[in-house]
Amino acid sequence: MIVLMDKQAARTDLEKVKQKIESLGFVPHVFVSAQRTTIGITGNKERIDSDLFLSMAGVEDVIQVSKPYKLVSREAKLDDTIIRVGKDEIGGSELTIIAGPCSVESRTQILEIAGILSDMGVKFLRGGAYKPRTSPYSFQGLREEGLEYLKEAALKTGMHVITEVKDTETLSLVAEHADVLQVGSRNMYNYSLLERIGKLRKPVLLKRAFSATIEELMMAGEYVASQGNYQIVFCERGIRSFDSSTRNSLDLNAVPLIKRLSHLPIIVDPSHGTGSWDLVMPMAQAAVAAGADGLMIEVHQDPTSALSDGFQSLRPDKFKLLLERLSRLAPLVGKSIPAKMAPSLIMNN
Ligand code: PEP
Ligand code: MN
Repeated sequence: MIVLMDKQAARTDLEKVKQKIESLGFVPHVFVSAQRTTIGITGNKERIDSDLFLSMAGVEDVIQVSKPYKLVSREAKLDDTIIRVGKDEIGGSELTIIAGPCSVESRTQILEIAGILSDMGVKFLRGGAYKPRTSPYSFQGLREEGLEYLKEAALKTGMHVITEVKDTETLSLVAEHADVLQVGSRNMYNYSLLERIGKLRKPVLLKRAFSATIEELMMAGEYVASQGNYQIVFCERGIRSFDSSTRNSLDLNAVPLIKRLSHLPIIVDPSHGTGSWDLVMPMAQAAVAAGADGLMIEVHQDPTSALSDGFQSLRPDKFKLLLERLSRLAPLVGKSIPAKMAPSLIMNN
């Protein structure tokens, strides 16, 4: 159930509704937005009687949510959620560009690529330290050492670090080093991990599992939100289909659909979505045209020597070309690109 507060409701009215929810043994989740304040209720096993709240001062309406998820739903919050990471944002009018190698391979590699990307205006550095590899014999990541290199790169460049957390054992260590926690495709169904992340107050990038329905993705987000962490960014990274011509099928339907269903941002990862570097650029542009809040792109100084996913990684010069194209495309869909990217790119034209 979601309680819609009146636009003129007093702070004390809101407090009384929260107390009433708690006195019933349930949990209130307050969403303040420009249009109105709403309170999502969780913890109830059965339908709650709307009349319990409709008669209270400051309450305008009560919505019985028909979907199995509520806190991540548009009903819970009417306007788009903007997630703050330091002085930057995900989900606002500026496109969020996350770039970096698939894996952190060495100190030199990550410091060098972070410098290159930061000079281009990229604010979010990606790189896996704990890698969930299909084969146990493949490179598993530099683990704690990798986290330290990421942190050093962030300190040197001022970038924000986004890196994958693979399990509950390493969660606190990864959370100490990351600004945004990435939950990988293989872990979208790991509900105990999602709940533990929900207890932290740190932004989460939640990748869609390669066989997950949109509803399952929303429910995974709900696991995080139900614990009080609403800083969730969804990520479409391709799903498995009958066709093996590409690594995955990038489901761009997900972008406008998630915008309709949820108040949370949605970004797209065309690197894993296609599995082929030459398809990354057109699909990145298609994602932005479809209304994505941002992109996650694998970039490597020398993709042929990459320890993972080199075949889908862009070289820095190709990535720069993509940024140039995005600088022209973004305004057509009401988005901007980071200021540092724009002037130099325009000068290059
Ligand atoms: C990654 O981002 O490097 C990754 C492993 O992604 P996914 O979980 O989408 O496969
Ligand atoms: Mn990868």
